[in-house]
Amino acid sequence: MDVRYNQSLKDCNTFGVDVQARCVVRLDVKGSALSERGHEEVEQLLESGALRDAYVVVGKGSNILFTHDYDGTVIMLESSGKQELHVVDADGCRYVTVGAKCLTDDVVAYCVEHGCFGIENLSAIPGTIGAAVVQNVGAYGVEIGDVVERVEAVDLKKGTVCALRAEDCRFGYRTSLFKQCNGQYLITSITLRLKPSFQPVLTYKALAERVSGEQHADMTALGMRDVITQIRWQKLPRPEQYGSAGSFFKNPVVSDEVVEQLLSKYTDMPLYAGNKLSAGWLIDKAGWKGRSRGRVGVWPQQALVLYNRGSCTGTEVVDLAMAITEDVYSKFNVSLEPEVIIL
Ligand SMILES: Cc1cc2nc3c(=O)[nH]c(=O)nc-3n(C[C@H](O)[C@H](O)[C@H](O)COP(=O)(O)OP(=O)(O)OC[C@H]3O[C@@H](n4cnc5c(N)ncnc54)[C@H](O)[C@@H]3O)c2cc1C
Repeated sequence: MDVRYNQSLKDCNTFGVDVQARCVVRLDVKGSALSERGHEEVEQLLESGALRDAYVVVGKGSNILFTHDYDGTVIMLESSGKQELHVVDADGCRYVTVGAKCLTDDVVAYCVEHGCFGIENLSAIPGTIGAAVVQNVGAYGVEIGDVVERVEAVDLKKGTVCALRAEDCRFGYRTSLFKQCNGQYLITSITLRLKPSFQPVLTYKALAERVSGEQHADMTALGMRDVITQIRWQKLPRPEQYGSAGSFFKNPVVSDEVVEQLLSKYTDMPLYAGNKLSAGWLIDKAGWKGRSRGRVGVWPQQALVLYNRGSCTGTEVVDLAMAITEDVYSKFNVSLEPEVIIL
């Protein structure tokens, strides 16, 4: 266990805000599942008393916005060993087990390469697969929760190792048991239930339009991965150029009454299953797309994304987010909620 005090978190969050943590603990979990070494490291952490005060697990910080120095312990998983992925075939499925520390995009690449299909649409999502499960990440019609079979975690409150089945994980739109029980579980490994043959998921309109007719018939999983990656980086800021956390807001789910009212006024308004509105459309319609306030801006190609125009603070991001939220509410009577975890 590597313990350091008063550490900068600037390189540990994709917004790139410059804050410090009172303490940073790095646990070497080795390999894919929680190894013997990993167990020892977790035991040391539990005995150290570090969890008596505030603590937070951080993967790559691509969905966290720090608004001030963190007066507590930041826990990160390290892995000195090779990140192994295990594939087991059973019941016509391919079960892939990966360590929580693996990057989601590396897992997608590995799966595509090794004939395990079903998560191609999650290509190029930044961050770790452990956090992907916490957030139930989704893109282009697929959510990770759709293919999770089992999650191994340490219950940091009880100090025990547990294995949860998908039905126990309470997956919902950008949420899960792990997010709801804020900080109770440290996810160590995940088993995904994938398919041995590739079937493109084209439920997302913009993707279906792109992969038309003939191309569809010949489409491979690798081809799909390329298409998705291209679409994403046409619309999103490149992390190496501008700090952001991807979509800042969730798409709001509203009542039938609100849908009716809005559709009577805005006939072109996008509407998804389950009365889900497009937060990006609302923000754009309210006139925020491409606008900026000081060192924070609304990304010109995707109004859902707030980005760091240069050395901004987390508070500046929150101020802009609040201004947008209030304006959208006053114009459409719809409340926006952040997808990003604000600390
Ligand atoms: C450019 C860009 C594009 C994005 N596109 C998408 C997208 O298309 N779809 C989407 O859903 N998201 C998207 N995101 C958001 C982000 O990539 C995901 O939420 C990602 O899964 C976060 O991974 P992370 O490792 O950075 O997690 P972090 O931001 O470090 O953590 C996120 C949450 O998970 C918890 N956590 C992290 N690791 C563990 C663990 N091992 N055990 C328990 N809790 C843990 C943290 O405490 C925190 O609550 C995007 C972000 C960026 C910057």
